[in-house]
Amino acid sequence: MGRAFVYAIVGGGVAAGYAAHEFVKRGVSHGELCIVSEEPVAPYERPALSKGYLLPEAAARLPSFHCCVGANEEKLSPKWYKEHGIELILGTRVKSADVKRKTLLTVTGETISYKFLIVATGARALKLEEFGVNGLDADNLCYLRDLADADRLVDVMKSCTGGNAIVIGGGYIGMECAASLVINKLNVAMVFPEAHCMARLFTPKISSYYEDFYKAKGVKFIKGTMLSSFDFNSDGKVTAVNLRDGNKLPADMVVVGIGIRPNTSLFEGQLTMDKGGIKVNGKMQSSNSSVYAVGDVAAFPVKIFGETRRLEHVDSARKSARHAVAAIMESDKTGEFNYLPFFYSRVFTLSWQFYGENVGDVVHFGDFSGNSFGAYWINKGHLVGSFLEGGTKEQYEAIAQATRLKPAIEESAELERQGLGFALTLSQKFPASQPLDSGGSGLLIEKPVYALHATAGVIMAASIAVFAYWYGRKRRRW
Ligand SMILES: Cc1cc2nc3c(=O)[nH]c(=O)nc-3n(C[C@H](O)[C@H](O)[C@H](O)COP(=O)(O)OP(=O)(O)OC[C@H]3O[C@@H](n4cnc5c(N)ncnc54)[C@H](O)[C@@H]3O)c2cc1C
Repeated sequence: MGRAFVYAIVGGGVAAGYAAHEFVKRGVSHGELCIVSEEPVAPYERPALSKGYLLPEAAARLPSFHCCVGANEEKLSPKWYKEHGIELILGTRVKSADVKRKTLLTVTGETISYKFLIVATGARALKLEEFGVNGLDADNLCYLRDLADADRLVDVMKSCTGGNAIVIGGGYIGMECAASLVINKLNVAMVFPEAHCMARLFTPKISSYYEDFYKAKGVKFIKGTMLSSFDFNSDGKVTAVNLRDGNKLPADMVVVGIGIRPNTSLFEGQLTMDKGGIKVNGKMQSSNSSVYAVGDVAAFPVKIFGETRRLEHVDSARKSARHAVAAIMESDKTGEFNYLPFFYSRVFTLSWQFYGENVGDVVHFGDFSGNSFGAYWINKGHLVGSFLEGGTKEQYEAIAQATRLKPAIEESAELERQGLGFALTLSQKFPASQPLDSGGSGLLIEKPVYALHATAGVIMAASIAVFAYWYGRKRRRW
């Protein structure tokens, strides 16, 4: 049995949803596009699973968070796909792919042939078994990657109210789950080997703000050690977590968030890989010209860093997907993907955004005893990354634009003194580009900063004294 499509997307997560939206905007014809997804539901905004989905009251449920509501755009219900003649093949895993023959084989035995393929298979949660910890089919041990995981987590949480929840891992899944567990009235302890939470992104100073906030909510932090084994009862449920430092933590449930691995296996040996993902060019095109890769699975050139990177964040999934569709449907008119890495998190009443990269020296600013503060990263004399907690829309846009411009920074003490005012002023002087038509692609492409870059550097150096005075008089609340 087989079907033929002009365009096929393997994987039905965030990137697939945004790709479908872009295909329709660009006039795909009925019957030309199919999406094959292992998940049984139409593409949805995955970040909701660790936020609104876990609330004890008024929790988010589908269809409320189908793509593309996360970008304040149209919500693509299953009906929308039908109305636009897009074949959604759900609950169906692709078990093999042949990029030479341009075919996919599904677990149901169907062969799908395509002219162009978009790989949007995302990533899977790393499992403790991969680190030699056994007995992990316990009912009260949870991961969080997809809707089925989230439903399970909700059920287990509800059955453990007032009990002890142990979160293994101090990254963003661990942090967001810990907050949700507290809100669901569990006693939460987080265990991770690093010296502080969110160690890949946060500085110790930023981490300590969040750790103090969590501690005030009752969360315990057990740092610098790792899980070694579990104790189980006769039903096979975890009853305690044993740590390498010899301590034992009683547990009614466990949530594990120890990282992800991109789903590349269908294409190993067929496409060039890099950074653990499928290597693509600035048009999201892989080493096979008919195959594009987007989202968590794609390793693409990040122009602002001058390097290939694989990102694991929702904004990158959305935008890379749209770019791939533009490149497929209007190749001549579509330029290179010019992306400023961005990610965010929301926990309790807190909310932060980060742009760029966290390398080099750090300058903190703002009020770490209040509710708005941030940091800039300076590498080789230029601002390359910005973080802000508790910002307004205008302030977040300002740090994004400042990071995009990569201004030269001569004195970090002065930058620290100006704090957020630096980004606000710079972004007023050099506003974010108007939506540019990158060779007719119709996408929002960032204006190249390199031409501005030198100018910005010179102007900034010359203007710093003026701004310093001005900001001394017009300092913000923090
Ligand atoms: C709980 C959670 C919270 C998050 N919160 C944030 C956040 O706050 N901020 C942020 O920036 N990012 C966040 N992320 C990351 C963000 O959701 C991902 O970067 C994004 O979902 C990546 O999109 P994607 O389409 O590449 O992959 P996914 O959305 O993971 O979709 C991949 C899809 O492919 C399917 N698939 C895989 N293999 C096959 C196969 N062989 N056959 C058929 N289908 C297949 C999967 O079942 C899945 O449906 C979060 C992620 C999770 C899990």
